Amino acid sequence: MAKLYYDGDADLSVLSGKTVAVMGYGNQGSAQAQNLHDSGIDVVVGLREGGKSWSKAKSDGLKVSAIEDATEKADIIHMLVPDEVQSQVYEASIKPYLSEGKVLGFSHGFNITFGWIKPPEDIDLIMVAPKGPGYMVRQLYKEGFGVPALIAVEQDFSGKAKEIALAMAKAMKFTKPGVLETTFYEETTSDLFGEQVVLCGGVSELIKAGFETLVEKGYQPEIAYFECLHELKLITDLIQQGGMGFMWQMVSNTAEFGGRTRGSRIISAATKAEMKKIWEEIEAGKFAAEWRKESEDGMKFLNEQRAKEKEEQIEVVGRRIRALFQTAR
Ligand code: NAD
Ligand code: MG
Repeated sequence: MAKLYYDGDADLSVLSGKTVAVMGYGNQGSAQAQNLHDSGIDVVVGLREGGKSWSKAKSDGLKVSAIEDATEKADIIHMLVPDEVQSQVYEASIKPYLSEGKVLGFSHGFNITFGWIKPPEDIDLIMVAPKGPGYMVRQLYKEGFGVPALIAVEQDFSGKAKEIALAMAKAMKFTKPGVLETTFYEETTSDLFGEQVVLCGGVSELIKAGFETLVEKGYQPEIAYFECLHELKLITDLIQQGGMGFMWQMVSNTAEFGGRTRGSRIISAATKAEMKKIWEEIEAGKFAAEWRKESEDGMKFLNEQRAKEKEEQIEVVGRRIRALFQTAR
Protein backbone atom coordinates (compact mmCIF):
# COMPACT_ATOMS: atom_id res chain seq x y z
CA MET A 1 0.00 0.00 0.00
CA ALA A 2 1.25 3.45 -0.90
CA LYS A 3 1.92 5.74 2.05
CA LEU A 4 -0.14 8.89 2.54
CA TYR A 5 1.26 12.06 4.09
CA TYR A 6 -0.89 14.28 6.30
CA ASP A 7 -0.45 17.63 8.12
CA GLY A 8 1.66 16.05 10.84
CA ASP A 9 4.18 14.77 8.27
CA ALA A 10 4.96 18.24 6.89
CA ASP A 11 6.73 21.21 8.47
CA LEU A 12 5.91 24.71 7.20
CA SER A 13 9.01 26.21 8.80
CA VAL A 14 11.05 24.70 5.95
CA LEU A 15 9.64 27.57 3.86
CA SER A 16 10.28 30.38 6.33
CA GLY A 17 12.53 33.07 4.92
CA LYS A 18 12.06 31.60 1.46
CA THR A 19 10.41 33.23 -1.54
CA VAL A 20 8.24 31.19 -3.88
CA ALA A 21 7.88 32.44 -7.46
CA VAL A 22 4.68 31.14 -9.03
CA MET A 23 5.08 31.37 -12.80
CA GLY A 24 1.78 31.91 -14.59
CA TYR A 25 -1.58 33.03 -13.19
CA GLY A 26 -4.09 30.75 -14.90
CA ASN A 27 -6.15 27.88 -13.46
CA GLN A 28 -3.47 26.50 -11.17
CA GLY A 29 -1.19 29.54 -10.84
CA SER A 30 -3.87 31.84 -9.45
CA ALA A 31 -5.17 29.21 -7.02
CA GLN A 32 -1.79 28.03 -5.78
CA ALA A 33 -0.26 31.52 -5.51
CA GLN A 34 -3.19 32.78 -3.43
CA ASN A 35 -3.19 29.72 -1.18
CA LEU A 36 0.54 29.99 -0.50
CA HIS A 37 0.22 33.73 0.15
CA ASP A 38 -2.72 33.26 2.54
CA SER A 39 -0.65 30.69 4.45
CA GLY A 40 1.99 33.36 5.10
CA ILE A 41 4.49 32.28 2.45
CA ASP A 42 6.37 35.05 0.62
CA VAL A 43 5.01 34.74 -2.92
CA VAL A 44 5.87 36.60 -6.09
CA VAL A 45 3.92 35.88 -9.27
CA GLY A 46 6.11 35.72 -12.39
CA LEU A 47 4.39 36.95 -15.56
CA ARG A 48 4.97 38.46 -18.97
CA GLU A 49 5.04 42.23 -18.65
CA GLY A 50 1.82 43.70 -19.97
CA GLY A 51 0.16 40.26 -20.17
CA LYS A 52 -3.50 39.81 -19.24
CA SER A 53 -2.85 38.20 -15.85
CA TRP A 54 -0.62 41.00 -14.55
CA SER A 55 -3.37 43.33 -13.29
CA LYS A 56 -5.46 40.37 -12.08
CA ALA A 57 -2.66 39.10 -9.82
CA LYS A 58 -1.98 42.63 -8.55
CA SER A 59 -5.64 43.24 -7.70
CA ASP A 60 -5.67 39.90 -5.84
CA GLY A 61 -3.06 41.48 -3.56
CA LEU A 62 0.00 39.62 -4.82
CA LYS A 63 3.47 40.86 -5.72
CA VAL A 64 4.09 40.58 -9.46
CA SER A 65 7.37 40.62 -11.40
CA ALA A 66 8.68 39.72 -14.81
CA ILE A 67 9.54 36.00 -14.94
CA GLU A 68 13.28 36.77 -15.07
CA ASP A 69 13.16 38.98 -11.94
CA ALA A 70 10.93 36.54 -10.10
CA THR A 71 13.38 33.69 -10.80
CA GLU A 72 16.28 35.80 -9.59
CA LYS A 73 14.51 36.77 -6.36
CA ALA A 74 12.99 33.40 -5.51
CA ASP A 75 14.34 30.28 -3.79
CA ILE A 76 11.54 28.11 -5.18
CA ILE A 77 10.38 28.50 -8.78
CA HIS A 78 7.01 26.86 -9.35
CA MET A 79 6.20 26.37 -13.07
CA LEU A 80 2.52 26.91 -13.70
CA VAL A 81 2.48 28.23 -17.26
CA PRO A 82 0.85 25.84 -19.79
CA ASP A 83 2.84 22.65 -20.46
CA GLU A 84 3.30 23.46 -24.15
CA VAL A 85 5.04 26.80 -23.45
CA GLN A 86 7.07 25.78 -20.38
CA SER A 87 10.25 24.88 -22.28
CA GLN A 88 10.25 28.22 -24.16
CA VAL A 89 9.66 30.18 -20.96
CA TYR A 90 12.31 28.11 -19.18
CA GLU A 91 15.01 28.64 -21.84
CA ALA A 92 14.40 32.36 -22.28
CA SER A 93 13.52 33.59 -18.82
CA ILE A 94 14.36 31.02 -16.12
CA LYS A 95 17.48 29.04 -17.02
CA PRO A 96 19.83 32.07 -17.02
CA TYR A 97 18.81 32.94 -13.42
CA LEU A 98 18.55 29.44 -11.96
CA SER A 99 21.53 29.50 -9.60
CA GLU A 100 22.84 26.62 -7.48
CA GLY A 101 20.61 25.38 -4.67
CA LYS A 102 17.32 26.74 -6.02
CA VAL A 103 14.23 24.59 -6.29
CA LEU A 104 12.28 24.07 -9.51
CA GLY A 105 8.71 22.88 -8.96
CA PHE A 106 5.96 21.59 -11.24
CA SER A 107 2.32 20.47 -10.98
CA HIS A 108 2.69 18.07 -13.91
CA GLY A 109 5.85 16.20 -14.85
CA PHE A 110 5.40 16.39 -18.62
CA ASN A 111 8.32 18.68 -19.56
CA ILE A 112 10.81 16.84 -17.37
CA THR A 113 9.65 13.34 -18.30
CA PHE A 114 9.87 13.99 -22.04
CA GLY A 115 13.08 16.02 -21.81
CA TRP A 116 11.65 19.31 -23.07
CA ILE A 117 13.25 20.94 -20.02
CA LYS A 118 16.71 19.73 -18.96
CA PRO A 119 17.50 21.43 -15.66
CA PRO A 120 21.01 21.68 -14.18
CA GLU A 121 22.09 19.10 -11.59
CA ASP A 122 22.76 21.59 -8.79
CA ILE A 123 19.10 22.34 -8.04
CA ASP A 124 16.20 20.45 -6.45
CA LEU A 125 13.49 19.24 -8.79
CA ILE A 126 10.10 18.63 -7.19
CA MET A 127 6.46 18.16 -8.07
CA VAL A 128 3.40 19.24 -6.10
CA ALA A 129 0.42 18.22 -8.19
CA PRO A 130 -3.10 18.81 -6.89
CA LYS A 131 -5.64 16.27 -8.10
CA GLY A 132 -8.29 18.84 -8.84
CA PRO A 133 -8.88 21.87 -11.03
CA GLY A 134 -7.62 25.28 -9.92
CA TYR A 135 -11.01 26.60 -8.81
CA MET A 136 -11.37 23.66 -6.39
CA VAL A 137 -7.80 24.09 -5.14
CA ARG A 138 -8.77 27.64 -4.16
CA GLN A 139 -12.36 26.98 -3.04
CA LEU A 140 -11.54 24.09 -0.69
CA TYR A 141 -8.61 26.05 0.78
CA LYS A 142 -10.98 28.89 1.66
CA GLU A 143 -13.31 26.37 3.28
CA GLY A 144 -10.40 25.17 5.44
CA PHE A 145 -9.78 21.91 3.64
CA GLY A 146 -7.95 20.99 0.45
CA VAL A 147 -7.82 18.68 -2.54
CA PRO A 148 -5.63 15.58 -2.43
CA ALA A 149 -2.30 15.84 -4.25
CA LEU A 150 0.78 14.00 -5.46
CA ILE A 151 4.36 14.93 -4.63
CA ALA A 152 7.55 13.73 -6.30
CA VAL A 153 11.26 14.38 -6.07
CA GLU A 154 13.27 13.98 -9.27
CA GLN A 155 16.48 15.63 -8.02
CA ASP A 156 17.48 16.15 -4.41
CA PHE A 157 20.50 18.48 -4.46
CA SER A 158 19.81 20.08 -1.07
CA GLY A 159 18.89 16.85 0.69
CA LYS A 160 15.64 18.60 1.68
CA ALA A 161 13.65 18.36 -1.53
CA LYS A 162 10.95 16.09 -0.12
CA GLU A 163 10.50 18.26 2.99
CA ILE A 164 10.10 21.29 0.72
CA ALA A 165 7.53 19.53 -1.47
CA LEU A 166 5.57 18.42 1.61
CA ALA A 167 5.71 21.93 3.09
CA MET A 168 4.38 23.42 -0.18
CA ALA A 169 1.61 20.83 -0.12
CA LYS A 170 0.79 21.67 3.50
CA ALA A 171 0.72 25.42 2.79
CA MET A 172 -1.94 24.74 0.16
CA LYS A 173 -3.83 22.37 2.52
CA PHE A 174 -3.28 19.31 0.31
CA THR A 175 -2.02 17.43 3.39
CA LYS A 176 -5.50 17.79 4.96
CA PRO A 177 -7.07 15.05 2.79
CA GLY A 178 -3.66 13.47 2.13
CA VAL A 179 -0.71 13.46 -0.24
CA LEU A 180 0.69 10.47 -2.15
CA GLU A 181 4.29 10.17 -3.29
CA THR A 182 4.97 9.33 -6.92
CA THR A 183 7.67 9.90 -9.54
CA PHE A 184 7.66 12.39 -12.42
CA TYR A 185 7.45 9.48 -14.86
CA GLU A 186 4.57 7.74 -13.07
CA GLU A 187 2.55 10.94 -12.61
CA THR A 188 3.07 12.10 -16.19
CA THR A 189 2.35 8.88 -18.02
CA SER A 190 -0.61 7.86 -15.83
CA ASP A 191 -2.10 11.35 -16.06
CA LEU A 192 -1.87 11.34 -19.86
CA PHE A 193 -3.22 7.80 -20.06
CA GLY A 194 -6.15 8.58 -17.77
CA GLU A 195 -7.20 11.73 -19.58
CA GLN A 196 -6.84 10.21 -23.07
CA VAL A 197 -8.40 6.82 -22.47
CA VAL A 198 -10.95 7.23 -19.68
CA LEU A 199 -11.61 10.74 -18.45
CA CYS A 200 -11.62 13.13 -21.38
CA GLY A 201 -11.19 11.11 -24.57
CA GLY A 202 -13.01 7.90 -23.67
CA VAL A 203 -15.95 9.45 -21.84
CA SER A 204 -16.72 12.12 -24.45
CA GLU A 205 -16.73 9.60 -27.30
CA LEU A 206 -18.86 7.14 -25.29
CA ILE A 207 -21.44 9.84 -24.61
CA LYS A 208 -21.52 11.01 -28.22
CA ALA A 209 -21.82 7.50 -29.68
CA GLY A 210 -24.73 6.70 -27.36
CA PHE A 211 -26.46 10.00 -28.09
CA GLU A 212 -26.05 9.66 -31.86
CA THR A 213 -27.34 6.07 -31.86
CA LEU A 214 -30.57 7.06 -30.13
CA VAL A 215 -31.09 10.11 -32.36
CA GLU A 216 -30.47 8.01 -35.49
CA LYS A 217 -33.17 5.62 -34.23
CA GLY A 218 -35.62 8.55 -34.17
CA TYR A 219 -35.58 9.56 -30.49
CA GLN A 220 -35.99 13.19 -29.43
CA PRO A 221 -32.48 14.63 -28.99
CA GLU A 222 -33.49 16.02 -25.57
CA ILE A 223 -34.31 12.49 -24.37
CA ALA A 224 -31.04 11.15 -25.80
CA TYR A 225 -29.18 14.01 -24.06
CA PHE A 226 -30.64 13.08 -20.69
CA GLU A 227 -30.02 9.37 -21.01
CA CYS A 228 -26.50 9.52 -22.39
CA LEU A 229 -25.03 12.72 -20.94
CA HIS A 230 -26.91 14.29 -18.05
CA GLU A 231 -27.26 11.12 -15.99
CA LEU A 232 -23.61 10.18 -16.30
CA LYS A 233 -22.67 12.38 -13.36
CA LEU A 234 -25.21 10.68 -11.10
CA ILE A 235 -23.58 7.33 -11.87
CA THR A 236 -19.96 8.48 -11.52
CA ASP A 237 -20.82 10.18 -8.20
CA LEU A 238 -22.09 6.84 -6.88
CA ILE A 239 -18.98 5.02 -8.12
CA GLN A 240 -16.68 7.63 -6.60
CA GLN A 241 -18.52 7.47 -3.30
CA GLY A 242 -18.72 3.73 -2.81
CA GLY A 243 -17.22 1.83 -5.70
CA MET A 244 -18.91 -0.29 -8.37
CA GLY A 245 -20.81 -2.38 -5.81
CA PHE A 246 -22.50 0.68 -4.34
CA MET A 247 -23.47 1.96 -7.79
CA TRP A 248 -25.01 -1.42 -8.76
CA GLN A 249 -26.90 -1.42 -5.47
CA MET A 250 -28.34 2.04 -6.08
CA VAL A 251 -29.58 1.42 -9.63
CA SER A 252 -32.48 -0.94 -10.40
CA ASN A 253 -31.95 -4.68 -10.77
CA THR A 254 -32.97 -4.23 -14.40
CA ALA A 255 -30.20 -1.67 -14.91
CA GLU A 256 -27.73 -3.92 -13.13
CA PHE A 257 -28.60 -6.98 -15.22
CA GLY A 258 -28.52 -5.01 -18.47
CA GLY A 259 -25.28 -3.28 -17.56
CA ARG A 260 -23.52 -6.42 -16.42
CA THR A 261 -24.51 -8.35 -19.55
CA ARG A 262 -23.95 -5.58 -22.15
CA GLY A 263 -21.16 -3.37 -20.81
CA SER A 264 -18.32 -5.65 -21.83
CA ARG A 265 -19.62 -5.67 -25.42
CA ILE A 266 -19.00 -1.90 -25.54
CA ILE A 267 -15.65 -1.87 -23.76
CA SER A 268 -14.31 -5.12 -25.15
CA ALA A 269 -10.97 -6.91 -25.42
CA ALA A 270 -10.41 -4.91 -28.61
CA THR A 271 -10.92 -1.65 -26.69
CA LYS A 272 -8.41 -2.76 -24.09
CA ALA A 273 -5.90 -3.69 -26.80
CA GLU A 274 -6.26 -0.16 -28.18
CA MET A 275 -5.72 1.25 -24.68
CA LYS A 276 -2.45 -0.61 -24.55
CA LYS A 277 -1.39 0.95 -27.85
CA ILE A 278 -2.23 4.41 -26.54
CA TRP A 279 -0.13 3.70 -23.45
CA GLU A 280 2.76 2.63 -25.70
CA GLU A 281 2.51 5.89 -27.67
CA ILE A 282 2.70 7.84 -24.41
CA GLU A 283 5.59 5.78 -23.07
CA ALA A 284 7.62 6.06 -26.31
CA GLY A 285 7.21 9.86 -26.42
CA LYS A 286 5.15 9.60 -29.60
CA PHE A 287 2.23 11.48 -28.09
CA ALA A 288 4.56 14.18 -26.71
CA ALA A 289 6.09 14.68 -30.17
CA GLU A 290 2.64 14.97 -31.75
CA TRP A 291 1.57 17.48 -29.11
CA ARG A 292 4.72 19.53 -29.64
CA LYS A 293 4.04 19.66 -33.39
CA GLU A 294 0.42 20.71 -32.81
CA SER A 295 1.57 23.48 -30.51
CA GLU A 296 4.14 24.64 -33.07
CA ASP A 297 1.41 24.62 -35.75
CA GLY A 298 -0.53 27.16 -33.68
CA MET A 299 -3.05 24.56 -32.38
CA LYS A 300 -4.53 24.09 -35.84
CA PHE A 301 -6.16 20.72 -35.10
CA LEU A 302 -7.52 21.83 -31.71
CA ASN A 303 -9.01 25.04 -33.08
CA GLU A 304 -10.74 23.13 -35.90
CA GLN A 305 -12.15 20.54 -33.49
CA ARG A 306 -13.37 23.18 -31.04
CA ALA A 307 -15.25 25.02 -33.79
CA LYS A 308 -16.68 21.83 -35.29
CA GLU A 309 -17.88 20.31 -32.03
CA LYS A 310 -19.61 23.51 -30.99
CA GLU A 311 -22.08 22.97 -33.84
CA GLU A 312 -22.68 19.25 -33.21
CA GLN A 313 -26.25 18.39 -32.23
CA ILE A 314 -25.39 17.17 -28.73
CA GLU A 315 -23.77 20.53 -27.94
CA VAL A 316 -26.53 22.60 -29.51
CA VAL A 317 -29.24 20.64 -27.69
CA GLY A 318 -27.24 20.68 -24.48
CA ARG A 319 -26.87 24.44 -24.49
CA ARG A 320 -30.62 24.82 -24.99
CA ILE A 321 -31.58 22.37 -22.24
CA ARG A 322 -29.12 23.75 -19.71
CA ALA A 323 -30.35 27.29 -20.33
CA LEU A 324 -33.98 26.22 -19.91
CA PHE A 325 -33.18 24.52 -16.63
CA GLN A 326 -31.54 27.58 -15.25
CA THR A 327 -34.51 29.83 -16.00
CA ALA A 328 -36.84 27.25 -14.42
CA ARG A 329 -35.00 27.43 -11.07
P1 NAD B 1 -3.52 27.87 -17.78
O1 NAD B 1 -3.57 27.77 -19.24
O2 NAD B 1 -4.78 28.02 -17.03
O3 NAD B 1 -2.67 29.13 -17.28
C1 NAD B 1 -1.43 29.46 -17.71
C2 NAD B 1 -1.03 30.89 -17.32
O4 NAD B 1 0.33 31.03 -17.70
C3 NAD B 1 -1.77 31.99 -18.06
O5 NAD B 1 -2.91 32.43 -17.38
C4 NAD B 1 -0.71 33.06 -18.12
O6 NAD B 1 -0.69 33.76 -16.88
C5 NAD B 1 0.59 32.31 -18.23
N1 NAD B 1 1.09 32.13 -19.63
C6 NAD B 1 0.45 31.60 -20.69
N2 NAD B 1 1.23 31.58 -21.77
C7 NAD B 1 2.42 32.11 -21.39
C8 NAD B 1 3.64 32.37 -22.06
N3 NAD B 1 3.81 32.08 -23.34
N4 NAD B 1 4.63 32.91 -21.33
C9 NAD B 1 4.48 33.21 -20.03
N5 NAD B 1 3.35 33.00 -19.34
C10 NAD B 1 2.34 32.45 -20.01
O7 NAD B 1 -2.64 26.64 -17.27
P2 NAD B 1 -3.04 25.58 -16.12
O8 NAD B 1 -4.16 24.75 -16.57
O9 NAD B 1 -3.12 26.31 -14.81
O10 NAD B 1 -1.74 24.64 -16.12
C11 NAD B 1 -0.53 24.99 -15.47
C12 NAD B 1 0.17 23.72 -15.03
O11 NAD B 1 -0.61 23.06 -14.06
C13 NAD B 1 0.42 22.72 -16.16
O12 NAD B 1 1.64 22.09 -15.92
C14 NAD B 1 -0.72 21.74 -15.98
O13 NAD B 1 -0.46 20.46 -16.51
C15 NAD B 1 -0.82 21.71 -14.47
N6 NAD B 1 -2.09 21.23 -13.94
C16 NAD B 1 -3.27 21.83 -14.33
C17 NAD B 1 -4.47 21.41 -13.79
C18 NAD B 1 -5.78 22.10 -14.15
O14 NAD B 1 -6.74 21.89 -13.45
N7 NAD B 1 -5.86 22.95 -15.17
C19 NAD B 1 -4.50 20.36 -12.85
C20 NAD B 1 -3.28 19.79 -12.45
C21 NAD B 1 -2.08 20.24 -13.00
MG1 MG C 1 -4.96 14.67 -14.49
